Amino acid sequence: MSDILKLTAVEARKALDSKAISATELTNAYIGAMDETRGLNAYVAETQSKALEMAAASDKRLAEGKAGPLEGIPVGVKDLFCTKGVETTACSNILKGFTPTYESFVTNQLWDAGGVMLGKINCDEFAMGSANETSAFGPAINPWSSEDGPDLAAGGSSGGSAASVSSGSSLIATGTDTGGSIRQPAALCGIVGMKPTYGRCSRWGIVAFASSLDQAGPFTRDVADSALMLEAMAGHDKMDSTSADVAMPDLQAAMQAGVKGLKIGIPSEYVMDGMDPAILKLWEQGQSWLKDAGAELVEISLPHTKYALPCYYIIAPAEASSNLARYDGVRYGSRVDEGGSLDEMYAATRSAGFGDEVKRRIMIGTYALSAGYYDAYYLKAQQVRQLIKTDFDNAFTQVDAILTPATPSAAFELGVKQDDPVTMYLNDVFTVPANLAGIPGISVPAGLSEAGLPLGLQVLAGSFREDRIYQVAKTLEEAAAFQLNPVRAAGGLR
Ligand code: GLN
Repeated sequence: MSDILKLTAVEARKALDSKAISATELTNAYIGAMDETRGLNAYVAETQSKALEMAAASDKRLAEGKAGPLEGIPVGVKDLFCTKGVETTACSNILKGFTPTYESFVTNQLWDAGGVMLGKINCDEFAMGSANETSAFGPAINPWSSEDGPDLAAGGSSGGSAASVSSGSSLIATGTDTGGSIRQPAALCGIVGMKPTYGRCSRWGIVAFASSLDQAGPFTRDVADSALMLEAMAGHDKMDSTSADVAMPDLQAAMQAGVKGLKIGIPSEYVMDGMDPAILKLWEQGQSWLKDAGAELVEISLPHTKYALPCYYIIAPAEASSNLARYDGVRYGSRVDEGGSLDEMYAATRSAGFGDEVKRRIMIGTYALSAGYYDAYYLKAQQVRQLIKTDFDNAFTQVDAILTPATPSAAFELGVKQDDPVTMYLNDVFTVPANLAGIPGISVPAGLSEAGLPLGLQVLAGSFREDRIYQVAKTLEEAAAFQLNPVRAAGGLR
């Protein structure tokens, strides 16, 4: 089959069931595409022989009629997920050489569903960043970059996941989203990225960044694949005390339901200075699409939106400074022995092992948590977080879902924001509020910038109402008819 890379996961499952293709054939096509797109730096470790073993096992189960929902589907795994026997570094030098003895809950669910692991995927160091530039392996490159122009950012922190799904070097990929790390790279690479409700996917075995915000989710080429992958990833887990025991709503039915009669909130605070005019236009276009499909648009107010970024950039670094205290050169990864005392070894290991952005977050977080400043920063940020959550609670008494832009701009050139952390942090302006409130959100590719780069629309819904998200996302996808057309994709995808 020549167009094998063009199949969505749903289509590939059908082709596998009908024996039109085999899992081994599909996996080999992706191994070829990984080879072809290596210049995008999407993978940090390729596990091709493991992939072929898993594909052979899938073919056996398919032949025996025991196929799971993701049977034979090639999956890329963000390097933040612990994978048993496969080095897991969180793209940090400090974790180089760390090979977990156990599998994360989420990836385990994917393998139980029949998924085939292609390898570990590039991301920002400890998932801190918006351009994949803080990775110890160098940045992933956006496949929409032109052949002769500058390399564009794939977004971050899950930049490699978005680059690989968009360029055809994985069919689906895992990501994590603490402040936008699934939705922003998905928007910049023209694919679908979903952050589930906090608690929907277990955090067990995912390298922790900010534990009250971190959530795993799917990267896919379309909305139906997103639902399929999320159903497999999600589930209650006793090993994560914040994992929720709440049944997943019927996402398949939701995607059939349309939006007739739904109330869609349009938050007035999401018009920002300096926003790309093409994004404003796309947002208005999205509103018309939903209205034409029978939804009612309701202007809403989320008055504390402007505090979301400052609040996030206190809480996330505070939690990070505490989570990252465990990397001391004793228990995991790399160690630098200098001086002779234990303290000197800690200092040398952490100085050499962490990159600049991670050190910046540790310092901000430690400061915000220190005795004299705790009330003024950390406690205040927690109070503001509650106000932001209350804004959403109030909004969802009036509306079923909220429509916003996903990012304030299309993909930017690598390097241009690297020396200006505040400009980089502004990338998360539309995505961070959902993490603070714990609610689910999706980014759906919906149009192009003037330069022909992808732009996304974001749909938000109340906690555990992923059905609402997929209901609206499916309608947007049908209306937008977005074409995934990156220049630097594998030949078989173009
Ligand atoms: N860009 C944000 C940050 O740097 C979000 C990262 C994420 O969601 N992991 O913190």
